[in-house]
Amino acid sequence: MKIAIVGGGPGGLYFAALMKQLDPSHRITLWERNAASDTYGFGVVFSDETLGGIGNADPVVADYMSRHFARWSDIDIHFRNQVRTIGGQGFAAMSRRELLELLQRRTLELGVDVRFSTMAPPVEELQTSHDLVLAADGVNSQIRTKYADSFKPSLDVRGNK
Ligand SMILES: Cc1cc2nc3c(=O)[nH]c(=O)nc-3n(C[C@H](O)[C@H](O)[C@H](O)COP(=O)(O)OP(=O)(O)OC[C@H]3O[C@@H](n4cnc5c(N)ncnc54)[C@H](O)[C@@H]3O)c2cc1C
Repeated sequence: MKIAIVGGGPGGLYFAALMKQLDPSHRITLWERNAASDTYGFGVVFSDETLGGIGNADPVVADYMSRHFARWSDIDIHFRNQVRTIGGQGFAAMSRRELLELLQRRTLELGVDVRFSTMAPPVEELQTSHDLVLAADGVNSQIRTKYADSFKPSLDVRGNK
């Protein structure tokens, strides 16, 4: 299958790695408008359950990630000058920059054609030349907005009562 991916955040990169791992004959091109090293640097947190899913889907990515993690299992709740510690909550965290770096490395070693510092061509152009176009262009996705009639996103926002 010939696949076009718009956006090189965690979603686009991980999708590319999984598809290539499932079938190396897929021809995948990913466009990311920013340079490989451009990112905002907050931490990303994963529960043990999420990590189990990542490990099942791609053990190589899970192994890369495990080398960068900070881990904890206790959560302290501070309330009115008291601290309550609740154990048994398995979590791990790493910086977004490190997460993107290892996903970039994985997609490149699997043979994905990653084009940094390049805006993706318009969807209308991509859909004539690809079997699948993935909109991984973030929470403010321009593609999702443009095709809102098809995606029909449903978001019910209500105030607290
Ligand atoms: C302060 C903060 C803290 C967060 N903490 C967590 C956390 O702890 N755990 C967690 O799971 N999530 C966290 N998130 C959410 C997390 O950032 C998102 O879930 C994640 O980045 C979504 O990945 P994505 O690939 O879908 O989108 P993005 O990371 O937004 O990537 C989209 C990419 O598409 C590119 N792009 C867009 N349009 C085009 C185009 N036309 N051509 C080429 N490239 C394009 C953008 O440059 C961008 O790199 C946090 C978010 C914020 C703001």
